[in-house]
Amino acid sequence: MKRIQLGNTVFEGRNNVYVLDGETTALVDAGVAVPAVREELRAGLADHGLSFADVDEVFVTHWHHDHAGLAGEIQDESGAIVRVHEADAPLVGGEPSAVDAERELLRERLIEWNLPDETRDGLLSFLERHADLAGRPADVTPFTDGDAFELNGRTYEAVHLPGHAAGLCAFASDDEEAFVGDAILPKYTPNVGGADVRVDSPLETYADSLVRLADRGFDRAWPGHRDAIDDPAGRAATILEHHRDRTRNVAAVLSERGPCDAWTVSAHLFGELRGIHVLHGPGEAYAHLDHLRARGVVDRVERDGAVEYELVEPDPDVDALFPRTDR
Ligand SMILES: [Zn+2]
Ligand SMILES: [Zn+2]
Repeated sequence: MKRIQLGNTVFEGRNNVYVLDGETTALVDAGVAVPAVREELRAGLADHGLSFADVDEVFVTHWHHDHAGLAGEIQDESGAIVRVHEADAPLVGGEPSAVDAERELLRERLIEWNLPDETRDGLLSFLERHADLAGRPADVTPFTDGDAFELNGRTYEAVHLPGHAAGLCAFASDDEEAFVGDAILPKYTPNVGGADVRVDSPLETYADSLVRLADRGFDRAWPGHRDAIDDPAGRAATILEHHRDRTRNVAAVLSERGPCDAWTVSAHLFGELRGIHVLHGPGEAYAHLDHLRARGVVDRVERDGAVEYELVEPDPDVDALFPRTDR
């Protein structure tokens, strides 16, 4: 296996493309579809004596443009099979109804989170300006949790880990290593709530995925960004702990300020935001507020489409709100 690192200034930093070489050439993820990154990927493959035309399969961990962007172009040149979990397949396949529904849901959420009009319009035009990062739609071959793929004498199993994205999957090899996309990252905690607004109960969904990942006990995880994670279960436990702390912070904001919308909570947690973080900040706040609502800690009150959350359980047992790993 080889790793190619690609530039990416919009999302979580440089993207990893993993090359599984042998009789069959497969890639895990594909980078954003901009000319500079396309050339980086071509050059990176050429270093291993490969070109786009040599690629037989592309495994896409999730629909985000920094992972799926170039898959369609690679497929155009090679006829590669592009595999995506069924929940993300319509977006990577560019199905208009799915793309429109995601964008419409996003607009509704931005109103619900109560972003100021100017901020909301700025974010939507930012996303519009970066729409080409998605690249050409691929003709996708959907798979589902537990599906196995034989490749160069190894078996890779799809492990569905929704949260950061609805269809996010790890590909776990029979030597106990896994390509995990953005399910866990070495430095940052992957965004939940804003990164894929289609995910219901995003924080609970993600927490369950962290436990599932930890329980698998992989020896090593290869993430979508940055370097290998040598203790994936430990990293998953650390991210869970981080979310427990954040939930305490969210409850503290509501306790101090009284009822708040997601945008206000975000401002208290993250301060002023720019670029994609204008989506990720309130999305993260929303994920936590929604989780507290589901567990009866806060009430949800709607006013003119915007939603405020009021603390009704002033001293919640936050540890009890999250599942635990063995660690
Ligand atoms: Zn992502
Ligand atoms: Zn990413």
